[in-house]
Amino acid sequence: MNVQKAESRRQKAESRTRSPEVFCLLPTAYCLLHVLFVGCSPVLAQPNPEWIRVAVVRSDPEVSLQIHGPFTVVGRQSGQPIQEGTRLAAVSVRAVPAGIAFGADILPVSGIRVASGGEAAISLNGRRLRGTLEIVKQKDQTLLVINHIALEDYLQGVLSKEAPDYWPPEALKTVAIAARTYAIYQRYTKESVEYDVTGDVLSQDYGGKSEEKAATTRAVKASAGIVLLSRGRLFPTFYHSTCGGVTEHARAMGDFDLEPLRGGIVCNFCSASPFYRWRRRFTKADISWALSKSPRGSIGPVSALQVTRRSQTGRAQEITIVGAKQTVRLTGFEFRSLFGFDRLRSPSFSVTPAGDSFLLDGRGWGHGVGMCQWGAAELARRGFSAAEILSYYYPGTELATVRELAARPVEVIKGGLPN
Ligand SMILES: [Zn+2]
Repeated sequence: MNVQKAESRRQKAESRTRSPEVFCLLPTAYCLLHVLFVGCSPVLAQPNPEWIRVAVVRSDPEVSLQIHGPFTVVGRQSGQPIQEGTRLAAVSVRAVPAGIAFGADILPVSGIRVASGGEAAISLNGRRLRGTLEIVKQKDQTLLVINHIALEDYLQGVLSKEAPDYWPPEALKTVAIAARTYAIYQRYTKESVEYDVTGDVLSQDYGGKSEEKAATTRAVKASAGIVLLSRGRLFPTFYHSTCGGVTEHARAMGDFDLEPLRGGIVCNFCSASPFYRWRRRFTKADISWALSKSPRGSIGPVSALQVTRRSQTGRAQEITIVGAKQTVRLTGFEFRSLFGFDRLRSPSFSVTPAGDSFLLDGRGWGHGVGMCQWGAAELARRGFSAAEILSYYYPGTELATVRELAARPVEVIKGGLPN
């Protein structure tokens, strides 16, 4: 996931077991409509990997909708038509005690489904989205909005956010395959019954149709349906911006020990990244303040900061902070989350005391697990193919297709939460 991904989401995601879900044995296009508007007989306990459900809004009291084309609105439970027309002018949708307010109308329903006809995308809060929308009222009187979308369409809205469109085509294809596999992995291990992924950095960043770019869309299409498996099994194809020299073992993300994610891949290819080396200064007051605002609470004025345990690749696993009131030990993840993953770019850093501050000299951006995107970009520039780049960063893997996944029971590699 690009750089600032919140690793916590991953740490949770890895541990999930696959939840049974139903899907139709009908032609796919018909099946989607059937599922959305009628319901579907349970025939197989495996999600359809060709579709995905993206939570694009998770707890807003109100959203705005607009559709420049024919549309239908139906009740989520009943499937009964509520409204249809040739164009939907901008309308505000709100959760209200009696149901859902759709413009001036109060609909006595707990949820609605909105579909556009033809090529018109649905505009949600000004962002154009492919697929259909499900708007659900939650107990706290907020709305959950789920975008039901074909996996390949979803990826077009992801890749443009996850990789710069000026990268070489093979690099973009490499990221597309990793992102596709990661999305399916999330679908098979999801934590919510309502959706598979979130549309933000907690899963993979998703900009919808509004954010699609020609080069990244070409890469999605050129690699359509291709995924990466480890000995036939689906695994979390973690990726990150810049490893800074060597990749990390996936145990940093949870209880994983599998061949493609054992880290230790030497990467001399990401030095062009602006995040290859970095320096940050944190004052003692900064650290004291950040801790006081965290669940750890106040430790008083800070006198010392040290990395007291490192992984084999040198990434900080335990940071000890000495305060006037108490000494605390944080994981590398906790320490980064104190300051934000954009500000403290990776757990790979050294600490030098400097008066009332500490200087952190670091390497790379991201958790360092799996594929290094800037490394992949350089390898593509040197003429390596997407398949070669993927097998370099994820050893022992092979390419497969989504259709193969759909055709047989898929074993999913699971992990536990980190210690
Ligand atoms: Zn690298």
